[in-house]
Amino acid sequence: MLVLAAALAAVHFGAPALYLLYLRAAPKKPLQTAAIYPKVAVVVPTYNEARNIEAKLEDVYSQSYPRDRMSIYVVDSASTDGTAEAAERWAAGRRDVRVVVLREPKRRGKAHALNTALAHLADEEVVVITDADSRWLDRDTLRRAVAYLAAADAVSCLKRPAGGGPTEEAYRTWYNRLRLAESLVHSTPVFHGELAAFRREAIAGGFPEDVGADDSYAAIRIAAAGGRAVTPPDVWCIEAVPQRGYPTWRLRRAQHLIQAFARALPNVAKAPPPYRVILAAEAYLHLFNPWLLPAAAALAAASGPPGLALLAAGAAALLYKPYRAWAAGQIYLMAAALRNIWNKE
Ligand code: GDP
Ligand code: MN
Repeated sequence: MLVLAAALAAVHFGAPALYLLYLRAAPKKPLQTAAIYPKVAVVVPTYNEARNIEAKLEDVYSQSYPRDRMSIYVVDSASTDGTAEAAERWAAGRRDVRVVVLREPKRRGKAHALNTALAHLADEEVVVITDADSRWLDRDTLRRAVAYLAAADAVSCLKRPAGGGPTEEAYRTWYNRLRLAESLVHSTPVFHGELAAFRREAIAGGFPEDVGADDSYAAIRIAAAGGRAVTPPDVWCIEAVPQRGYPTWRLRRAQHLIQAFARALPNVAKAPPPYRVILAAEAYLHLFNPWLLPAAAALAAASGPPGLALLAAGAAALLYKPYRAWAAGQIYLMAAALRNIWNKE
């Protein structure tokens, strides 16, 4: 039993390590940029964002991207706090940028709102989705992201957490490294609502309305079909980490990613080879690998003193910050998988 416990633990910790080695050894396809200025639609989905919408619009407006090549679409889903009115008021004061405020009569989720925006686009060639409560790092962020669309089909950002603790920072540092490494090999399956930019034809099919992580799922679909979905080293967003309700927030994020990976599983076999490994590995790491940890712990606990010693060593390792961040991530993924069974929010 102890041997089995050790084997499960070895797979649990070995699988991500192997994946990192693969990413390091795999041939790289450098990310290319060009100073292109296609017409861009910046889409901001909102539900009760009166607190954030003006600052968000101002942030987008102050970008260095040429204003006559940019339209802003706010898609509001029946907010009750006057978000749409605030957006319209803001737009009335800014005549040099095209702003379209779309109002959905009923709230049917972010993906539904994004599809509404897609249906109302003019002749824009690029669609950039950005959450109302997010900020881009500087005024060149949009210009840089779009420059990568000269060669890629979809571009997302790296994230700098604002207001999170050290565990959040450790977790983010690792995730950013991973996104970059995946992007250099082929594509990353994890996209972010802070900034998800797509060539319009790459998302012509719209967003599935029953997958929480609409941006990640779109990225997966694009890369599995042979396109490229990347997070470059110089496109950054600031993520507001909630001070209250942090666990619920992490849980919901994990739920959404699990939905995207579960839905993406049938795409693994179809994906082009370098991306097949990335998608298979990430799906495995999100859906299956976490469960090996409690299984190993239970087996170790049941196998007497040597197993208990092993467990104690595992518990002591929690003093080490990156490991603590890892363990917390595993717990969120398991809790999220269970929660998805009865509440798919
Ligand atoms: P989180 O960052 O994953 O916790 O998700 P948020 O609650 O911040 O939502 C991301 C973005 O989608 C924000 O700009 C929300 O206002 C927006 N959003 C969430 N639900 C809806 C919805 O039903 N309709 C619309 N139009 N936007 C929504
Ligand atoms: Mn948010």
